[in-house]
Amino acid sequence: MIITDVEAVVLKQKNIEMIGDGSQDTVVVLVRTDEGITGIGEVDSNPYVVKQIIESPASHMACIGLRDVVVGEDAFDVEKIWYKMFEKSYYYGRRSVAIHAMSGIDMAIWDAIGKKLGLPVSKLLGGTFRTKIQAYCSVLMPGTEEEIKELIGRHMNGGYQGMKLGWGALAQDYKKDVQLVRWARKYLGDDKELMIDIGMLWKDVKMAVSTAKEFEKENVFWIEEPFRPDDLDSYRYLRDRTSCHISGGEEVGTMFEFDDLLGRGCVDIVQPDLSRCGGLTVAKKLTDMAMLRKVTVVPHAFKTNILMAATLQYIASLPEAWYLEFCEQDTELRQKLTKPIFEIDGDGYVQIPQRPGLGIDIDWDVFEYYRVK
Ligand SMILES: [Mg+2]
Repeated sequence: MIITDVEAVVLKQKNIEMIGDGSQDTVVVLVRTDEGITGIGEVDSNPYVVKQIIESPASHMACIGLRDVVVGEDAFDVEKIWYKMFEKSYYYGRRSVAIHAMSGIDMAIWDAIGKKLGLPVSKLLGGTFRTKIQAYCSVLMPGTEEEIKELIGRHMNGGYQGMKLGWGALAQDYKKDVQLVRWARKYLGDDKELMIDIGMLWKDVKMAVSTAKEFEKENVFWIEEPFRPDDLDSYRYLRDRTSCHISGGEEVGTMFEFDDLLGRGCVDIVQPDLSRCGGLTVAKKLTDMAMLRKVTVVPHAFKTNILMAATLQYIASLPEAWYLEFCEQDTELRQKLTKPIFEIDGDGYVQIPQRPGLGIDIDWDVFEYYRVK
C-alpha cells in the first residue's frame, strides 16, 4: 500500500481566544495511498507551522519536507518511515514541532493500515486489553467560586467519577491556587477524584511544595505539569515531597525525552500526547518503558475527536489504564468534526470503537466549512 500524497489541512473556528484551549483550531493530516485508502491524523501544535513542515520543498538531504520523505513508501513500513522522517528532518527537527508533524503522519499511517486490514489500531499495537475506559472531565479552571460551582454542576451530574481543572485562573498566586482547589473540592464532593493542571507555570519549588501540602488536604489525586517541561529537577524535588501524584509529559516528544523524564524519576503519571510525542510508534515504546519504571500512562488529549479516537485505540492496548481525558470545552470542531461523536455513559465510561483503523470518519461538510483556504 504505497503512499501517494500527504496533505495537511488547517481548520479553524471563526474566533480564537487566547486561552489554554487547543481545540479552537487544528491541522488534519491526510495520508493517501494507491489503494484508495486515506489515513487520518491530527496534530495539536501551531497548525500553520505543522503544515509548512509537511509541505515544504526540500532544501538538502537532512532538511526535507515530510511529505516528500513519505511519498513512495509502503505504509506498512511505518516504523521505517518514522526513522526516515526523523533523519531527513535533522537540521530543522529532532524535537518539538517537527516531531509534532511526524506524529500526525504516523497517526494517519496507522489508521490506513488498520483500514486496509479491517482491524482496529489497538490490534496492531499488540492487542485489545479493554473495550471501554473510564473518562475524566477536563476543563479550564475558572476564577471565582460561583463559576466553579456552575461548571461542576453543569458537567458532573452524569457519570464522570473524576474532574481535572487546569490552566485558566491557576498559577497566578499560590494562595489563590489553594482557594480555587478548596472551592473545587467543596462542590465536587468527597467521592469524586480531583486533578489540578498547573499548566507549567509554578516557578518556586518551595512554594510549590507548601501549596501541594494544602492540595493533599483536599485529596488532589494528581498535580499536572507544575513546572516548565525542561525543569526536570523541580519535578523530582516536588515528587519526593508530596503524596499527590505528579504528572507530566504532554510536551514531551521522542524516546530520548521520555527516557529523561522517566529515568530521572520526575513523574508518577506520564501523559503522552499522541499528536505530539512522535505518534503511536513512539507511544507504543513508551508503554513498555513506563511499565519498567512503574509509571502509569494516562495520555493527554485536548483536541478534536480524531486525537480522542487515536488515544482510545492506544488506551485499549495498554496493560494498565486508569483514565481517558475527555475535553469538555464547548468548541465547534471538538463537537462536530467526526462521526461518531464519543459520549460518556451513565457510569462515566467511553466505548472504544472496534471498527477498522482509528474507528472514526470525518464529517466532510464540517471539514470544508472550517477549512482555512
Ligand atoms: Mg495538561
